[in-house]
Amino acid sequence: MVTHVPVPVNSLRRTFLRMDSPVHESMQHVELQPGIQYDIPFKFIVPRELPVHVCHHKCCSAQLQQEHLNLPSSLGHASNSFGVAHDMAPKEAQVIYEIAFTIWDTDNSKDGSMKKIQEYNFPIYILPKRRELAPVFVHSRSGYYRLNSQKPLSKGLFRSSLGLLRASTAQPSAIQIPTTLSRDNVELTTTLRVDITFEPAHPQIKPPSRITPTLHLKAMTFWGMEPWEQFPDQTHASTWDARKAYWFENIPLSSNKLILHWRSCLPARKSDHEPSCHTAYMTSIDIPIVLPGNYLYSPTFHSCFISRVYALSASLSFHSHDKAHGTSRLSLKTPVQIIAT
Ligand SMILES: [Zn+2]
Repeated sequence: MVTHVPVPVNSLRRTFLRMDSPVHESMQHVELQPGIQYDIPFKFIVPRELPVHVCHHKCCSAQLQQEHLNLPSSLGHASNSFGVAHDMAPKEAQVIYEIAFTIWDTDNSKDGSMKKIQEYNFPIYILPKRRELAPVFVHSRSGYYRLNSQKPLSKGLFRSSLGLLRASTAQPSAIQIPTTLSRDNVELTTTLRVDITFEPAHPQIKPPSRITPTLHLKAMTFWGMEPWEQFPDQTHASTWDARKAYWFENIPLSSNKLILHWRSCLPARKSDHEPSCHTAYMTSIDIPIVLPGNYLYSPTFHSCFISRVYALSASLSFHSHDKAHGTSRLSLKTPVQIIAT
C-alpha cells in the first residue's frame, strides 16, 4: 500500500555539502588534444559529519541537531542512476550526491577571471555508516507507532466474548546492513518479541492455541520546505504547515503460523472495587524478521529537510483449537532502526 500527501507545487534544492578538488596541478602543462582520453587523478574523502553551519535553525534538542549534522544517505535516485533496487523514496524527496566536473578557460580572459566552458555531473551513491541510537520514545497517541493493543476474543454470530487478549511489544534490535551496494547473500534480520496475555471470560475457556502474524516493514519518508524542528515521527501531521509532507511504503514480510505455549498468571486488576477474575494466561513469542532482498534500504536518518525512518507492523490473528471459537486480530507497530556497519 502506498499513500501520498500532496504538497503545493514548490521545490527546494539545498546544497548541504560541497567539496572542491582542484585538478589544475595535474593538468597544468597539458595541452588538450581532440580525440584523446585523459585520466585525471583526484581524491575525495567524504566527511562523517556536515559543517556545523549547515544546521542553524531551532531544534528541540541537541540530539536532533547532532542527527541533522550526520551525513545523510543517498535517497531516491539510486534506482534511476545506478539501476539498483527501489529505495521506497518518493520522487519529491531526494538526497543526491554527484561529482561535478567543470572545465574553465583561464587563458583567453583579459582580466584573469575564469570562464566556464563546460560542466559534467556524475551521480555517486553514498551510504554512510550509522550506529544504533537509543530506542524511539513512543507516545500513547503516536500516529506512527503502537506498542500495546487489546481486543476481546469473540465467537459466533453475536460475537459473544470469550475473554480479553492483550499484546505488547518493544523496539527490536536494529537491522544491520553492510555499507556496500552489493549485498548478495547478506541476510537483513532482527527479532520482534511480543508479550501476550489472555483473560478468559469464564474459567472453562482456554486461550487461543495458534497465532498467524502478518508482517510489514513500513518505510516512512518525511520532508518539508522548512527544516524540521523535532523528530518528525514524534510529531502529528495536524501540527505541520502546508509545506511539510509524508510518504510511506509497506513491504510485506514472510511469516509463519506459531503455536502458543501459555503459562498461567494473575490477571490484571481492573479497579480496586472490582474483584480480579480467575486465572489468566501469558506467553511471549519471538517473531523472526527477514527483509526481502529486492529493495534498497537506506539507513535511518534525520536531516534538516528529509528524514527516513522505519516501523515494523504486526497484525496478529489468534485461532483456537476449537473451530467454534472465533478469531481475533491485534495490531502492533514498533519503530525499528536500520543501521549501516
Ligand atoms: Zn537541521
